[in-house]
Amino acid sequence: MFTRRHLVLLVVLSPSLAILAPLNFHSSPSPADATILIINAQLADGTGAPLREGALRIRNHRIASIGKLSPAPGEQVLDAHGLVLAPGFIDIHNHSIDGFDTDPLAETQIAQGITTAIQGPDGDSPWPIKNWIEQRRKHPAALNVAVFAGHATIREQVMGKDFKRLATPQEIEKMAQLTWQAMNEGAIGLSSGLEYEVGSYSNTAELVAMARSAAEHGGLYSTHIRDEADKAFDALVEEIEIAEQAHIPVDHSHIKLGTIAVQGKAPEYIRVIEEARNRGVDFLADCYPYDAWHSNLKVIVPDKQYENPKSVAKAIADLGGPDHLIITEFKPNTSYVGHTLAELAKSNKLSPVEMFIRIVREGDAANTEAQVIGHSMIESDIKAFYQQPWVMVASDGGIGSAHPRGAGTFPRVLGRFVREKHWLTLPEAIRKMTSLPAQRLNWKDRGILREGAYADLVLFDPTTILDHSTFAKPQELPVGIEKVFVNGILVWSVNKPTGATPGQALTR
Ligand SMILES: [Zn+2]
Repeated sequence: MFTRRHLVLLVVLSPSLAILAPLNFHSSPSPADATILIINAQLADGTGAPLREGALRIRNHRIASIGKLSPAPGEQVLDAHGLVLAPGFIDIHNHSIDGFDTDPLAETQIAQGITTAIQGPDGDSPWPIKNWIEQRRKHPAALNVAVFAGHATIREQVMGKDFKRLATPQEIEKMAQLTWQAMNEGAIGLSSGLEYEVGSYSNTAELVAMARSAAEHGGLYSTHIRDEADKAFDALVEEIEIAEQAHIPVDHSHIKLGTIAVQGKAPEYIRVIEEARNRGVDFLADCYPYDAWHSNLKVIVPDKQYENPKSVAKAIADLGGPDHLIITEFKPNTSYVGHTLAELAKSNKLSPVEMFIRIVREGDAANTEAQVIGHSMIESDIKAFYQQPWVMVASDGGIGSAHPRGAGTFPRVLGRFVREKHWLTLPEAIRKMTSLPAQRLNWKDRGILREGAYADLVLFDPTTILDHSTFAKPQELPVGIEKVFVNGILVWSVNKPTGATPGQALTR
């Protein structure tokens, strides 16, 4: 069925014009009447409905029509025979804040079919939100962006460096006000990272107060919960409590069970979530398609006793051993990079616990921390999560990511989980990448193929689509994504960015 590997650019009636300038619309907006017609595509409309063959016309940044359409005189025509045409992928958990200034074409992102990348997850956002949005409008990227207000960011605005304690009621009130302000300035919701240094000192009441402010503006609560390891169930219960008390829709970030003690317990985890959903909690989660996470070294020690041999030994054992931890970045000693904790311990003639403590001390002395990848999730849990209708696909990566998810997430799901393993149907996988995140963001005119919706589009070959990024080569581009349009403008074609930067900074 899907045999044709290449698109043919057909030109109807006005060949010279279109051949000379097939892409000349990408630096300036198209004239209102200029159209592009994509014919013979297998349409995956984003709703999860079965594929159907059809044509789609783009006019003035939007989808003008869908169905059995014939080329108009002078119209640019793309023959998409053998290809799937889907809404552009919305990555609801993306870390590209630092990347847009130096890499506005965002090659690793659009090469995956991402047309909207949501920034500021895990509690860490730019501030003030208004300035960031203005900056992005002045210097647009190839893809659309939007931003959360970060809980830790706001907490630091209020508490400064004195954050290693519970906040006072007055401070909480101030944080709620700043959340309110951030929402007014265009944030799409509140994010938290409760496993990290600043956010971890907060209590539930503080989060409820801030989430209420976000909810009053129609925002959502995106959360990297307090524990994804031994206490993952307690952390989930707290998350649900916050959602219920603040009446806020939730996106549980990168759902996972990351230690030996909880591995394999996805069915129980899912049951707790289903019970909450049945009570009316508006709960969605996102998941990246890898069995390894990427974070800082200290995150594995939940009691924060980073130099206590007992705590460290337990943390290492919980991951499955010192060979499950790889250093990806460490400024004080770059020779550690690329090695496992087990290898470093051996070469330094130390125990893994001693080696861990040494890296912590060297990091502290340089006021930095090692970045690590931890292999501690199992496939059956990942599969169980992906098969839930309320789980979205998100990367948790971004421009310049040291984890292969930064360049591979969406093609990996379509190539490995859909085509090779049959965990999901293609339309269902597309729904998780498009209309489901759009629904979470309350966006009615993105994430779906519908007349009048924005023409954020991906054309890909379902027989070849695949990630190529690895832990050794995290930036390697995927294959199979043929064309990507953002707001009706072609941004990715013939395996490279077109140079167009039609991305918008989106708000609620
Ligand atoms: Zn996170």
